[in-house]
Amino acid sequence: MSHELKTGGDRGYLRIATEEAFATHEQLDAIMDLVRSGHADQGTMSLWGFYGTSPSERTTFIRERLLDLGELRIGAMDAAGIDKAVLAMTSPGVQNLPDDEQARGIARRGNDILKAACEKYPDRFYGMIAVAPQDPAFSVEELKRGKEELGFHGVQINSHIKGHYLDEEQFEPILKACADLDLPLYIHPQGLPDSMIGDMVGAGLDGAIYGFAVETSYHALRLLTTGVFDRYPNLQLMLGHGCEGLPYMLYRLNYMHQAGLRSGRYPRLKPLQHDLFHYMRTNVLATNSGLPFGPAIKTMIEVMGEDRVMYAMDYPYQYLPEEVGMMDDLDITDAQKKKFFQTNAERWFKL
Ligand code: CA
Repeated sequence: MSHELKTGGDRGYLRIATEEAFATHEQLDAIMDLVRSGHADQGTMSLWGFYGTSPSERTTFIRERLLDLGELRIGAMDAAGIDKAVLAMTSPGVQNLPDDEQARGIARRGNDILKAACEKYPDRFYGMIAVAPQDPAFSVEELKRGKEELGFHGVQINSHIKGHYLDEEQFEPILKACADLDLPLYIHPQGLPDSMIGDMVGAGLDGAIYGFAVETSYHALRLLTTGVFDRYPNLQLMLGHGCEGLPYMLYRLNYMHQAGLRSGRYPRLKPLQHDLFHYMRTNVLATNSGLPFGPAIKTMIEVMGEDRVMYAMDYPYQYLPEEVGMMDDLDITDAQKKKFFQTNAERWFKL
């Protein structure tokens, strides 16, 4: 690396990491109980069967760091030059749990734990609301509490909800509350639903390597193609991991969407007020979590605009300080770099 990593803005910008994960003990216990019961879906069995039990150095580090909202995390941020972190309860949150009462309690108490950490480190930590989207009425109340009482900055939903998607009618109150409360909706991946996973576990491709992007981009496209952003034109959808690949494909996605609309091929797809380029440049925000890769970041900036692309590390799943140095050295303008690392996050999360 060409330079030392320090906090405090010595390079002309603060570094704000926007997709950083924590867990609570009761959340991980509940997920592992589900895995051990054999009743989890295949995606959860694959992911948490591994992350929850593997003795490897990487997974041991991840488990320890997920559960820490104190000095370990602050030390890791200091060592990597990360000034501020936007924190969310790790995927899958509580949305795979079979017991709604348990899910609501873990989400609510997780929000309280995160709030306490944000109060302890007010210039370092910022909160995202955890909800239990399988219970939309509870989720709407928790979104209100999260915004108005806890002072949180968005909500993370971990993609499919037991195989269901946010464009389905039962979830409309959640979308409406995000729009009404001006809370960005971050859709983060989780293990694929049984309806989609096919042989991806057998192929070793179900997780962050590939399956995540397939399922999460599918979720996002369901929202983009069914008029959600005509109903809620101010709603902001956030996607990590290089916007789950969508910017690279946008011309083809839009071309085929328009062709499908013209031919009336799919009854579900109705004409929208705008094309997909418009929604991607008006209602979608991207982070580069897990993808410190110049060509991808430059493509996102070119396709979506320099105001819509933000830095994320994906701590503790991908903690490599040298990747921060690579992002400092990105071949983009100084003004774009300040937007990428700092001011876009301040604007969209209202920090
Ligand atoms: Ca993540």
